[in-house]
Amino acid sequence: MEADDWARAALRDIEAAATLAACESLRVQYLGKQGRMTAELRGLARLPADERRARGFVLNGVKAQLEAALAHRREELARGEHERRLAAERLDMTLPGVEPQWGTLHPITQVRRRLADVMLRLGFTLRSAPEVETEWYNFDALNMPADHPAREMHDTFYVDPPYVLRTHTSPFQIRAMREAGGELPLRVATLGFTYRRDDDATHVPQFMQMEGLVVDRGIGLPDLKGVVLAVVRDVFGPAERIRLRPSFFPFTEPSAEVDMSCPLCLGAGCRVCHTGWIEVLGSGLVHPRVLEAGGYDPNDVSGFAFGWGVERVAMLLYGLKELRPLYQSDVRFLRAFDSWDV
Ligand SMILES: [Zn+2]
Repeated sequence: MEADDWARAALRDIEAAATLAACESLRVQYLGKQGRMTAELRGLARLPADERRARGFVLNGVKAQLEAALAHRREELARGEHERRLAAERLDMTLPGVEPQWGTLHPITQVRRRLADVMLRLGFTLRSAPEVETEWYNFDALNMPADHPAREMHDTFYVDPPYVLRTHTSPFQIRAMREAGGELPLRVATLGFTYRRDDDATHVPQFMQMEGLVVDRGIGLPDLKGVVLAVVRDVFGPAERIRLRPSFFPFTEPSAEVDMSCPLCLGAGCRVCHTGWIEVLGSGLVHPRVLEAGGYDPNDVSGFAFGWGVERVAMLLYGLKELRPLYQSDVRFLRAFDSWDV
């Protein structure tokens, strides 16, 4: 069987075809209706009968060869295309991904959660209270009459009288007592923002307080001291000691400032504490007038309350000299508290 020159050229072209589209154009060129093979087959009719058979045999062989070559080349190209796409679209699992920026709990949040946890374990119920209060809840009901200096405009943010931004969490005492409707015992605590016109290194206008209140029959200073000591030791460590210093608050009688042994020197005295003691919170037995405002009979029941600044706890825990960085949202500062186990 002898192939024509054009057939050999066609085979070379097909083997060299670079794309599937090139294969198709070669198929049209050689095997299409207007193609070379069709023309050759038509030419058979002009041949003498004895040559026609041999020539037809050759042409059929060429046609089968070209078709086989095209199919083979198409398959090669398709496989190559597949491999090229596999290579190009390969997902390299060894590349490191884009790591998200993990946030950390704000130090105040960490301290707040820790304090809440302590109070819950001591049997207190946590409740919230409005940050916008009436003067009655914020002052009058807490034995702070209209002439009390804390009610001055320069100390307090007035919203629209009689509404004020609460200056302490203590209004929660009145709300909790009135809601309890005389029920005993009452053990409640709250954590939340309070507002005063203060702004310096250790004061900010918005700060957070935690406050606890217990009302029952026969409640006295030993109960207060026991609970406060338990809270302080839970937060700062079992070696802490506390002492109560007589003080004055309108809503407690008697009132006491609570000092704890300095967590830095454990009471030996250092540059920070000088005396070995650090003032941490205010406390006292609930004033009879406050009990009355809450709907309790002060001749029948008594109670104690204590409150402290959450930021102050954070400063002591972390050894901070300033309070303001806690509210300046500088992630370099905040990230430093990432590993604190609070
Ligand atoms: Zn000290």
